[in-house]
This record gives sequence, C-alpha cells and structure tokens, in this order.
Amino acid sequence: MAGMRREDDIVTDDPQDGAEELAGASAVRVRPDAESWLRKGGLRATRQRIALAEALLGEGGHRHVTAERLYSECRARGEPVSLATVYNTLRAFCEAGLLREVAVDGERSWFDTCTEDHPHYFIEDGEGDERLIDAPAAALEISGLPGPLPGTELAGVDVVIRLRRKPAGASVEG
Ligand SMILES: [Zn+2]
Repeated sequence: MAGMRREDDIVTDDPQDGAEELAGASAVRVRPDAESWLRKGGLRATRQRIALAEALLGEGGHRHVTAERLYSECRARGEPVSLATVYNTLRAFCEAGLLREVAVDGERSWFDTCTEDHPHYFIEDGEGDERLIDAPAAALEISGLPGPLPGTELAGVDVVIRLRRKPAGASVEG
C-alpha cells in the first residue's frame, strides 16, 4: 500500500518506518501515543491496531464505546476496517489488559478505556442511543456479596445502574 510515492530517489535504508507524517494543515491536538499504549499491553503496533487505538484514545480521555460506534467512527475517517476486525481487535486489547469489557446487556459489548473497577450508569435513551457513564465510585458501598461457588474464585463485580428518562410530565416532585 506504499505505492503513492515516487521511487526515483534512492531511499536511504532507514529502519524507522516514518509512519508519523502529519499533514501540517490540521490543528495540532495533544493525543495520547497509540504506539506506546499498545506497547504497554505487549501488542505489536500493526496499522489496524494503531488506527483503532487512535480512535479510542483520540479524545484524550477516558472513553466508553461500543464496537459498532468505533466501527462507524473509523469508517467516517476513511479507515477500511470491518466490524469483525474491530471486535477482534477490541477483544485483543481487553486480553492485553488495555481495555475492559463492561457487561451491560446481551446485545452489545461496551468497552472502557479505564481498566480499574468502577461502577457505571447506563442510560437507556432509546433505540441506538444508549450511553455508558462512570458513576461516582465513592458513593458505592457493597456490604455483602454471595460467596463464589465451590471450585471458583471471584473474577470481578460489575455494577451497572440502569437509568431511563422519566416520562414527560412526571418530573415534578412533591
Ligand atoms: Zn467507566
């Protein structure tokens, strides 16, 4: 896929593959370095992984996203990926400890760039418009938990507080 370049010049043998050529036109944004993020998880920085990592980290913050959402973002940026690739790559990120999958409903998987334990709000805003947001961890107190079954150990506890909009007219209290 490197065919756009003129090969007339003798190219010096450069081990660095100069992948980071920014077209100086766009405003410079501070963006977390996708490659070092991948390295942190011990993953090889393939083109596709970098593209997805950049989409994930692009806004610079902690993000909750579905594979479908990331897929459409990548397509909008002209990145030729398939939904299956997005899924597989996100799962690989999870296995590498870079992402965390949050079990919200059976239909969609949500992925969280913050891998620490924390509770979530899930807002059911209607078809295709759900949102996953961090809930204040300090307000959560679990005073008891059924113990693990014989032969198992606790792998994690997902706390998802499901919210839905009140019906119109029901917002006045008292
Ligand atoms: Zn979160």
